[in-house]
Amino acid sequence: MISRCSLLLHSLQAPLFTLLCLLPLATPAAEPTAVAPKAYLSLIIDDLGQNLPRDRRVLALPGPVTTAIMPDTPHAAEFAREAHRAGKIVILHMPMDPATGPFAWHPELPVEELQKRLDAAFQAVPYTSGINNHMGSRMTAQPQAMAWLMADLQRRHKFFVDSRTSAQTVAAAEAQKIGLASVSRDVFLDDERTEAAISQQLQTAIKLARKQGSAVMIGHPYPQTLAVLERELPRLKAQGIEWIDIKSMISLRSNQAMAGHGKNGVYR
Ligand SMILES: [Zn+2]
Repeated sequence: MISRCSLLLHSLQAPLFTLLCLLPLATPAAEPTAVAPKAYLSLIIDDLGQNLPRDRRVLALPGPVTTAIMPDTPHAAEFAREAHRAGKIVILHMPMDPATGPFAWHPELPVEELQKRLDAAFQAVPYTSGINNHMGSRMTAQPQAMAWLMADLQRRHKFFVDSRTSAQTVAAAEAQKIGLASVSRDVFLDDERTEAAISQQLQTAIKLARKQGSAVMIGHPYPQTLAVLERELPRLKAQGIEWIDIKSMISLRSNQAMAGHGKNGVYR
């Protein structure tokens, strides 16, 4: 266009030049309007399998909630089937030290015992596509065990979510080293179990998602958490927030660490 206008400038009188050069501007090559960057949220609810009526409220939440089911709960298998039938992603909520119980991983255990407990936990919770840690501040700080876990998950074709129950976790870092699909939690919704505090945490997650593009939230099936989520989740869209499932979140982040968990995309 510029060159045609420049040529015309030499041969035509000004009014005609103006008309010819303005014409293309009226065609659909419209100026791109300023679009706000997308902000994505994912939600995981932990500690499921204990209480069916309570846990079914989680399935009724209006969107792609991920259900993290504990192996040592009375309804683990039954609830996993229900969640799967309801189209929800199921993950194994794996007890890790300082958690206790027959499935829990402890740093002192030999690798054969870790393997046995992980196998049993996966058997107790069907339909899993991934795993996250229940507690685990001691266990997730063990590089060797975490490296073994990530290699094992890769063989099983399961993704890993680092719940980040401690800043000393090396779990996501070990996953990243071998390219295992993984993602890290950004915000715990309900460390403080009041509706006011939980609403505040949800706002923190929304702000973070706007700032860095996405945020992963973890909550629990407490009545206060569910009340806030039932009220607030249907309003996310109007606030410009896309609520996506955890697999989409893993693709979106492509195993990159967020600024709070590493540097230049690499986990600390
Ligand atoms: Zn838990």
